[in-house]
Amino acid sequence: MEVKNVWKKYRESTDWVLKQVNLSLQKGDGVIIYGPNGSGKSTLIKIMAGLIPPTKGEVTVLNSHPLDKKVKNKLGVVLHEPMLYRELTVSENLSLFKKLYKITRTDEMLSNFIELLGIRRYWNARVNELSFGWRRRVDILRALVHNPSIFMIDEPTTGLDEASFSNLVRIINELNSMGKTIILSSPHTLPRELVEGKKVFYIREGRLVS
Ligand code: ADP
Ligand code: MG
Repeated sequence: MEVKNVWKKYRESTDWVLKQVNLSLQKGDGVIIYGPNGSGKSTLIKIMAGLIPPTKGEVTVLNSHPLDKKVKNKLGVVLHEPMLYRELTVSENLSLFKKLYKITRTDEMLSNFIELLGIRRYWNARVNELSFGWRRRVDILRALVHNPSIFMIDEPTTGLDEASFSNLVRIINELNSMGKTIILSSPHTLPRELVEGKKVFYIREGRLVS
């Protein structure tokens, strides 16, 4: 994944939110982007996932645009807002996303993630009946159903208690050890088990520094 000279401004009147951001990731890299609230972390993640366009510069994933069909299937993204159908149950949501990606079976790895996240407990609950933290866990699973090669999660500690966060750390490290690219952002220091082996960057007022 290449982020080349990316600048972002949301409206003509505002300041630049991202300023000349460059980031070059190889397959299997694990990256943490630290920055205070409002520094541009979510904006950068959305641009890397192709969800919003940069104002200037470009992003390429596997040498293509992030919205290219062959790339889209390789990205798994968790943002602040869950990407779930609130009227559907947990199991209906997961079936729907599996269909979308033409996945016909639940492989062993996904079952393992379902167990680690404790999702079975709310398997038949509607998403809008779940607490924020449980919705977050389902959203994490939603981002993993298609076994993406690149997993991005904006502020991974969000909504999770200590035990479920440490299970998420296991999931992330397992994915990374399988050669998947991991991109995390955080406004506060993450635990050593998660930081170990990852490249650390900081965003300060829209500028990415290492
Ligand atoms: P972080 O994720 O690090 O907290 P964000 O990327 O969400 O930072 O926001 C960076 C800056 O961009 C903030 O000043 C924020 O107010 C602004 N911003 C974010 N999203 C929008 C938007 N959709 N429209 C206008 N400004 C936005
Ligand atoms: Mg954010």
